[in-house]
Amino acid sequence: MAKLTTLLACGLVLLTGCNTMPRPAGQALPPNWDADLGTPREVEPAPRITLPSHLPVAEATAAAGPKINPAVVPPPPPSEANWVSLNGWATQNGLRALRTIPLLPQVVYAITTLNGVFAVRVGSQTAFWDQLDVRLGFAPQQIGDQIYLHPLDVKKTLEPLARGMTMPDSLSRVIVIDPGHGGTNPGTRSIAEARNEKEYTLDWAKRLAPLLAQQGWRVFLTRTNDVDVSLPDRAALADARHADLFLSLHFNASASGSDPAGVETYCLTPTGMASTVTRGYNDDVQQVFPNNAFDAENLQYAVRLHRALLEVSGTTDRGVRRARYPAVLRGPNRPAVLIEGGYLSNPREARKLADPAYRQKLAEAVARALE
Ligand SMILES: [Zn+2]
Repeated sequence: MAKLTTLLACGLVLLTGCNTMPRPAGQALPPNWDADLGTPREVEPAPRITLPSHLPVAEATAAAGPKINPAVVPPPPPSEANWVSLNGWATQNGLRALRTIPLLPQVVYAITTLNGVFAVRVGSQTAFWDQLDVRLGFAPQQIGDQIYLHPLDVKKTLEPLARGMTMPDSLSRVIVIDPGHGGTNPGTRSIAEARNEKEYTLDWAKRLAPLLAQQGWRVFLTRTNDVDVSLPDRAALADARHADLFLSLHFNASASGSDPAGVETYCLTPTGMASTVTRGYNDDVQQVFPNNAFDAENLQYAVRLHRALLEVSGTTDRGVRRARYPAVLRGPNRPAVLIEGGYLSNPREARKLADPAYRQKLAEAVARALE
């Protein structure tokens, strides 16, 4: 029952979930909106379902269907031969069989691992890891009476999460923090005060650095003042310092009328699967980048960071997502994560971010995730 309650709570989180919409073509962007990241475009609007607190609700699923990305190779048709039965996977790993939780309009299938509960819905790329929104590369399928996961999602999502992570040695760990934007690239602008994203990211990094240093991290910043630093140079610093983690800090903006708020955490898309978001980048699923050697660690760090940020911010969970467009994720030859710590275009969230005490909480959350 406790577990059912957990799933129901998970569902309630969804009620306030993201309202991600693809940016309408040709819509004006705020000045310098994530200029280093290109034009935003979401491949698959986050599928949202309405989950009841106690009664079934016969609501339709998310209104917007998936947008077709021409660069995306369609997955092979699911078959028992090339997809992985979740029950089979559980048995192989000495775990209990899948639990079925009939939350209308969609049934949730949950598997309890030693490190957390992994839950999926047939046809939805939004999975849940201990209630956190984690995006899959492929929507789970039902074949007969069994639920199947794409083998890449087993290897790149389920197994790294189920395995759990080991933090680097506290005596020798190194982190490169990358305050996004800087100099002539201001990033987005706060709707609440006359400040730009580049100031918030630097403020966040400077609050975070001493906290991490106290925890035994050797900390390097890609910039410590308002200067231009190229994206390759940012990634190169992580390699030069032999960092255990490269962490890029950003804040978000929406030019659409949907006015979203919340935290998104990104890691590089594993080869073979489509990105959650492409932002105009030619999202070739076959590409292999240096950072793809760290797919598992990327996700493990991303989930820890995402959870900690949601705990302190109380904001909307917009998911641990996969993307290829950020050069700072493709380049580093080590684990790398990019956080979008909130929407400066959302009046309520922008007001929170204008408060130094809230920004300190965000820094403390990141530090706690890396303890
Ligand atoms: Zn940014």
